[in-house]
Amino acid sequence: MLLMAQRVTATLVLIQNIKKMGTQMTDSHRRFLQVLMSHGILEGSAVRALHRHCCEEHKVHYSHDKLDDFVSVINVQLQSLFMQIRKGVSEDDGRQYYALVNLAETEITKMASDYAENELELFRKTMDLIIQSDNGFASSTSILNLSDQLQSKKMKKKEAEQVLQNFVQDKWLSEKDGEYTLSTRCIMEMENYICNTYQDMVNKCNLCGTLTIQGQVCDTCGIQIHLPCVARYFKGHTEPHCPNCNDFWSHEIPALHQADSPHLPSTAPKEAAPAAREKRRAVPSTSGRRPSRS
Ligand SMILES: [Zn+2]
Ligand SMILES: [Zn+2]
Repeated sequence: MLLMAQRVTATLVLIQNIKKMGTQMTDSHRRFLQVLMSHGILEGSAVRALHRHCCEEHKVHYSHDKLDDFVSVINVQLQSLFMQIRKGVSEDDGRQYYALVNLAETEITKMASDYAENELELFRKTMDLIIQSDNGFASSTSILNLSDQLQSKKMKKKEAEQVLQNFVQDKWLSEKDGEYTLSTRCIMEMENYICNTYQDMVNKCNLCGTLTIQGQVCDTCGIQIHLPCVARYFKGHTEPHCPNCNDFWSHEIPALHQADSPHLPSTAPKEAAPAAREKRRAVPSTSGRRPSRS
């Protein structure tokens, strides 16, 4: 009995020491978290610039290839709050993003404090439309038509238009030429919810393994691939073949948007002097709160 108690104590001490050694939060980590929190989501190059800025500002050793370590120090602290900084990839252009994700609330309840009941219903119905569509988009007309079918409380079209704009502003939806899709933030935060709710309707990308809303589907075997993953995988191929069944890939191969976005490990470029890129992007300011709405 005594021996077991001793062993447990020893293990606890060991865990505590590991925590002390590897996971010390400094002011640079706190600053970094604060900025990310105020934005909700930030693009990879902005995060790299922010990492550098926070280290320099607080006189902490900076190394550009230590961003993942830096983030994991914060993530250890966030565990008890059921939050996590997660890395994800945009379905539009394949660029990398970092988002602060709430793990405690796995449903649309994440949005509950910001929206009225009928606005949340509109969001759920919009999500249905997007996921049931062939291309991962829903037109504004089809969304606005839902506004007088809401069970909680009907909405005027004008009102619904404004709510839709708020969804975009708050980064839950993104808009392209009057068509709406789920934003990168939404997919990162709600991946589990979406997979559980729409089990048979959604697929994971055959190449990167994450949820696919916009993608190309193999005519033969039915696997789905993100557009940026398609672009990267088939780059330079004159006769593209499905990576799963090897049949001819009949879709048009989209152009590769960004050369600097590591997504698939096999083709990830080495981080090449990011200075020139980062100069153009200002470090996000800590006062950059999301715009308030009346
Ligand atoms: Zn993919
Ligand atoms: Zn196939």
